[in-house]
Amino acid sequence: MSEHTPRAISALPVLEETAHQTYPSATLYVVATPIGNVADISVRALHVLSLVDAVACEDTRNTAQLMTRFGLHRPLIAAHQHNEREVAETLIARLQAGERIALVSDAGTPAVSDPGARIVEAVRAAGLRVLPLPGASAAVTALSASGLVNDQFYFVGFLPAKARQRENFLSTLRTVTATMVFYEAPHRILDCATALAAVFEPEREVVFARELTKMFEEIHRCPLSEAEAWIRADAHREKGEFVVLLAGAPSQDGESDADAERILKILLTECSVKQAASLAAQITGRKKNALYDRALQLKQEE
Ligand code: SAM
Repeated sequence: MSEHTPRAISALPVLEETAHQTYPSATLYVVATPIGNVADISVRALHVLSLVDAVACEDTRNTAQLMTRFGLHRPLIAAHQHNEREVAETLIARLQAGERIALVSDAGTPAVSDPGARIVEAVRAAGLRVLPLPGASAAVTALSASGLVNDQFYFVGFLPAKARQRENFLSTLRTVTATMVFYEAPHRILDCATALAAVFEPEREVVFARELTKMFEEIHRCPLSEAEAWIRADAHREKGEFVVLLAGAPSQDGESDADAERILKILLTECSVKQAASLAAQITGRKKNALYDRALQLKQEE
């Protein structure tokens, strides 16, 4: 059998099982959608999208297209970054009246570098239920195929667009030991590679995950010193969607102890012990419990 003629999957028992699950009313369903390959939608997502009273979406045209491909037709409500607060009020009123509403973004998981977080916050604050339906997210998809071995990752998302701000921001990440995850627009991918090479060591490993789950998917790993040349080698590489992963700093215990201590002290001037420990753990890639204990000590010594 060729790789293009897989066996047909018919009447999956899971379809029936999904239909018999419970779908509470007065609930906001946060539904992840595919990041390129439409077949990556989950069975449960399809079921929820077929039964909700309305779908709140980042762009009604994109969501209408997705729904139509699956033969689904539900009322759509525009919920994008410019109207999230107002639309949250409308959604809350409808949920309080007992409706089920789905929240989707254009691609991937809503509220992850996408609109949705404000709506979720408002719905939860109104005491209503929010039920997530997991699915594709570009960050996790890229990490899974990167081969970068590290139990921790630090999700940065989009970098500042302006060169100086971008480099200043990147400088604050020099000592992060977790794998760093960036989202980048195609027209800035070259600038991103140049900025990373200017700030981090040339031997640091970087992974470009381009057009994930799509026809021209490419996942390329190289030292930072070779990144710019790789992008320039093919004009297509400044097109499409990118996740960029950067290996974390090697942990050098003596040095990073001092760094962690310094970072904790700064954070403690502005945050609670719990917040300081949590943020310091994200920045340094160190264990939160140990940082929490150290933060408590520092607070008591004050
Ligand atoms: N909410 C989405 C998620 O869960 O991944 C992210 C949305 S964000 C507005 C869009 C960015 O995600 C793109 O600029 C790109 O960096 C990344 N991205 C989305 N789809 C991708 C794909 N198929 N391949 C590579 N990167 C992708």
